[in-house]
Amino acid sequence: MRFLLILPFLAFLPSCSPTAGPSSSSTSGGLDYWGNRPGPQGFRTVIIDAGHGGKDSGAVSSSTGQKEKDANLDLAKRLQSELSGSFRTVMMRSDDRFIDLDDRVDFANRYPGAILVSLHFNAGSSSRKGPETYWWRVDSHGLAVRCQRAMKSVAPYSANAGQVRRRLRLTRNPSIPCVLLEGGYMSNSSEAALINSPSHRDKLAKAIAGAIRDQAAKGDAGTGARPAFIKAPPSRPTDAPGS
Ligand SMILES: [Zn+2]
Repeated sequence: MRFLLILPFLAFLPSCSPTAGPSSSSTSGGLDYWGNRPGPQGFRTVIIDAGHGGKDSGAVSSSTGQKEKDANLDLAKRLQSELSGSFRTVMMRSDDRFIDLDDRVDFANRYPGAILVSLHFNAGSSSRKGPETYWWRVDSHGLAVRCQRAMKSVAPYSANAGQVRRRLRLTRNPSIPCVLLEGGYMSNSSEAALINSPSHRDKLAKAIAGAIRDQAAKGDAGTGARPAFIKAPPSRPTDAPGS
């Protein structure tokens, strides 16, 4: 009897440990350690990650005083409301709390078959402006192309790196397709004013939701050649910057 009571809970355990290595790599539709496969199509679950939070404010605009963690959370909620009719959405955080990056990865890996979209705003030299999209896994490239196109369509600026393949903890380490979006530069006073505007954040959310819908409907079609697989270890906080 005791065994029967425990069984239902076992069914909800992840099929694969978040820290599992290459030997536990699974095939399409679920967790995949390396991500060397086509981009997802027909997925129903979107994990929305509002970057930073709690003691970690992220960037802070010197012109508007806005904190990145607040802009990220607002954008995340707007994206959730855009998607909620057609997808199951899962919020990494719904309030102002700190979550370690590795814990975010572990959380995302509890949802095989989902995609992870991490939302941020950028900071850098005052001349840099516009949205950027970071990705690493082969199965995340199409989604990255779609998200970057979508954000650019509603952003008047584009003096930046655009779409970048970079091994970050939230682009390399999750075992599901994942992208990290930088919605614009808070360090540029013109763009900071835009990011501070709810109507602009709403436009961004609608654009990103459109990109996600397109990826779910079409897979990688129309997003260019599939990139080469790069075998690389998980990203660690001790890695050199940009490595
Ligand atoms: Zn950030």
